[in-house]
Amino acid sequence: MLSTMQDVPLTVTRILRHGMTIHGKSQITTWTGEAEPRRRSFAEVGARAGQLAGALRDELGIDADQRVATLMWNNAEHVEAYLAIPAMGAVLHTLNLRLPAEQLVWIVNHAADRVVIVDGTLLPLLAPLLSHLPTVEHIVVSGPGDRALLADTEAQIHEYEDLIAGRPADYDWPELDERTAAAMCYTSGTTGDPKGVVYSHRSIYLHSMQVNMSESMGLNDQDTSLVVVPQFHVNAWGLPHATFMTGINLLMPDRFLQPAPLAEMIERERPTHAAAVPTIWQGLLAEVLARPRDLTSMKQVTIGGAACPPALMEAYDKLGVRLCHAWGMTETSPLGTMAHPPAGLSAEEEWPYRVTQGRFPAGVEARLIGPAGETLPWDGRSAGELEVRGPWIAGAYYGGAGAEEIRPADKFSADGWLRTGDVGVIGENGFLTLTDRAKDVIKSGGEWISSVELENALMAHPEVAEAAVVAVPDEKWGERPLATVVLVEGSTAGYEALKAFLAERIAKWQLPERWALVPAVPKTSVGKFDKKVIRRQYADGELD
Ligand code: ADP
Repeated sequence: MLSTMQDVPLTVTRILRHGMTIHGKSQITTWTGEAEPRRRSFAEVGARAGQLAGALRDELGIDADQRVATLMWNNAEHVEAYLAIPAMGAVLHTLNLRLPAEQLVWIVNHAADRVVIVDGTLLPLLAPLLSHLPTVEHIVVSGPGDRALLADTEAQIHEYEDLIAGRPADYDWPELDERTAAAMCYTSGTTGDPKGVVYSHRSIYLHSMQVNMSESMGLNDQDTSLVVVPQFHVNAWGLPHATFMTGINLLMPDRFLQPAPLAEMIERERPTHAAAVPTIWQGLLAEVLARPRDLTSMKQVTIGGAACPPALMEAYDKLGVRLCHAWGMTETSPLGTMAHPPAGLSAEEEWPYRVTQGRFPAGVEARLIGPAGETLPWDGRSAGELEVRGPWIAGAYYGGAGAEEIRPADKFSADGWLRTGDVGVIGENGFLTLTDRAKDVIKSGGEWISSVELENALMAHPEVAEAAVVAVPDEKWGERPLATVVLVEGSTAGYEALKAFLAERIAKWQLPERWALVPAVPKTSVGKFDKKVIRRQYADGELD
């Protein structure tokens, strides 16, 4: 029999209405680089989202599920777009502003974006691409920037503020089917073409509720979250939607993402939470060690997107800031695990849990698959590929307008689970420890070496700022590790010293024979170590 409950669709529209009324006084603060940041209440952001939706419909002719793209930093206007576009029934497409030009062009054409909302400071990036973007009919420019760059474009140009000015704030939001598309995001395409993940209203709603649970980020309207993770990186890990549910104040860094302004905004605005990938926290650490700043307002920092080196966690513990490790992917919305230790443990007992990727929340089911396709036990020893399923996990990729969805066999199992490509173990209590990405594991003479384990051991050395380890071809062993190391300023440590340090922590047969001291580790478009580039540099003889 069916239930007797109301069947109310779980939509972004409901999140928007809730946030702008119940939490109307909460604030989004956008860093401007000037004496005063820009402050806007949720009530104002909600009203402006209504005006934006009206402009998109009445002035630009957007209806049904047409795609509206954003090429923007983290700021209040971007949150307005985050809410308005899905709530009016269109699809928000966040563009990664660090992608190479040809990938951006491919993605915009594949999604058939009709509108691009762009921060004026990013016009130098967008303008040269426009002649390759036939589907883009309208450009909406927000904030300062050189409009003359758009002189030759055929698309219509609008000013964000002029477009929304004077329009009614009470847009007549449609009642939407919760399964319809709300937003889309392309994976950065480490292999082959980028792949589009399309989030539904329902998946965003449920994911936002999970973000707000205490076993995840667990924040409320007494908190301020510094959202460093870009809004184009998996919906800024769900924060802009989650905040409109619980009234968390947002501190948005806009384009001021360097360690010095980040340190300044933390000291001045005193956020209680922040979210970013490990390389951001590495950079900030070097900054505050050189020029001490008070970071202690941050009760909790969510760190993920790549493995967090335990040494980094220890360094922040000493500064009075607790890093909390999380794992996720574009395909998982992204929240997949968070590493809150079980209750009632001492600091020492908590440590082994904190350095894992964490526990799966209700809503994310997991299994480990062994080399022969067998399901492995959760015993903390059996290593296999992680597969997940749940209401905010992708079941396919977007195929393009009118085309079927794509389900590559290496990404989706025959019975519909997402194959993550991540290798690890799960303990009896459900804590996940990832040893590597399947494609980064070093296969040396029939044994596997974890590149992450070597990196973590190297980054525990006080004179190592960053270390990335990749597999390189070896005649005798098939593959061997190559360690690329960035030393802290002024260090004179050589390979021998680093090798001796590693030898105390790692089995001898795993020790790298090949080393390269580099000025910086190459990074991907979302700030992770770019191992593809390191392997290519080695193959081209640039790292000898
Ligand atoms: P990309 O593949 O471009 O990096 P994603 O942001 O979707 O795009 O990356 C997801 C991948 O990032 C995961 O499959 C995993 O390999 C890695 N990852 C994310 N969080 C962690 C973590 N806490 N520890 C280790 N790896 C992580």
